[in-house]
Amino acid sequence: MRKVSIFGATGSIGQNTIDLIARDPESYDVVALTGGRNTAQLVRDARRLKADVAVTAFPELLDDLRAALDGSGIEAAAGATAIDEAASRPADWVMSAIVGAAGLAPGLKALEQGATLALANKESLVTAGPLIMGTAKAHNARILPVDSEHSAVFQGLIGEDFDAVERIIITASGGAFRDWSLEDMAQATPAQASSHPNWNMGQRITIDSASMFNKALEVIETKEFFGCSHDMIEVLVHPESMIHALVGFNDGALMAHVGPPDMRHAIGFALNWPERRKLPVERLDLAKIGSFHFRDPDMVRYPALRLAHEVLEAGGMNGAIFNAAKERALDGFLEGRIGFLQMAETVEKVLTRMSVDTRLINAEMTLDTVSQTDHLARKRADEVMAEWQT
Ligand code: NDP
Ligand code: MG
Repeated sequence: MRKVSIFGATGSIGQNTIDLIARDPESYDVVALTGGRNTAQLVRDARRLKADVAVTAFPELLDDLRAALDGSGIEAAAGATAIDEAASRPADWVMSAIVGAAGLAPGLKALEQGATLALANKESLVTAGPLIMGTAKAHNARILPVDSEHSAVFQGLIGEDFDAVERIIITASGGAFRDWSLEDMAQATPAQASSHPNWNMGQRITIDSASMFNKALEVIETKEFFGCSHDMIEVLVHPESMIHALVGFNDGALMAHVGPPDMRHAIGFALNWPERRKLPVERLDLAKIGSFHFRDPDMVRYPALRLAHEVLEAGGMNGAIFNAAKERALDGFLEGRIGFLQMAETVEKVLTRMSVDTRLINAEMTLDTVSQTDHLARKRADEVMAEWQT
């Protein structure tokens, strides 16, 4: 039996992971499940999968969690330190599916104990790519990408010589506002930004898809994970979301990964790697689909894409600043403090203001320095948003 843990078990990726694991209970011994506010779901899954420990991120929910697990023999715990402790428990395979920068520390802990880390939490690579890749190397641990585009690139590279790769093309559906005018986007509400045409995902990543911040994070994630130069990375709008990525080789060949927009493919690929096993996803009927469409992204409507390349060019702590400012700006948008287009403006202003502090930008990358930078960038984002409100 393989020992597995799922961080962010109550979310969209976490629930899809549980769906796959619960189909084959004989094969998995579940160590830790973690969640946030949805303790009812956490309790149901911890009992069903007979986890050793269930952890909520929020200490004020510990009493409820403990009461609900009473008599089950499952440990209850709460808070960020308890999540880190759960990540240090030996496991063969760990799903990193907490949303946001909170996913970084437990991912590092899992790598330190040598687990294979299935990485859905793209923010880990964006904020601290060299730290997370370096930790994996130092502890001989493996990271497998779960983001669909990166899983697609990873699959396209199997058996290939990376030196022969010229381009990595990741696709974008275009999100909720792909056919909206800039004027309409400026007025968009959180409810409008929270519905995705093709994928069923958590609210934050769905809004990030509408602003293309999700794709911007993925451009950075591609560079950090595959170690390629950022000018090899292209974004292509593909409204059908069936081709997830393409790898372009020096002989002109483009290898495309095609599949239904169902995260259980990428999750299952990481779960079964290095084997392929049968997965419960739709088999595409291409004759019925008939055609695929492509276009270049509109860089004026989606400044996040330009910012991603600027962040990669500048390097250092800029990824951590970019992500933290983006997370805070998204909070601001959800709370009605700023408009949809002001999210990118906030992030750009924070990057510009913090760029003068070269000591901070070029500091040695540790969990502490990344956390401090993250904290400061959130404060700067709040300042920028407050300036607009006065
Ligand atoms: P969800 O919002 O659906 O789930 C997030 C999970 O994190 C939940 O379990 C949530 O708990 C938990 N959580 C929330 N806040 C905290 C916190 N402060 N500390 C610890 N745990 C917390 O997100 P998704 O599943 O959509 O996304 C998860 C990650 O995977 C993100 O990084 C996203 O970018 C990435 N990803 C997602 C894809 C998708 O298809 N959904 C595709 C590719 C990548 P609770 O709900 O109980 O409050
Ligand atoms: Mg993706």
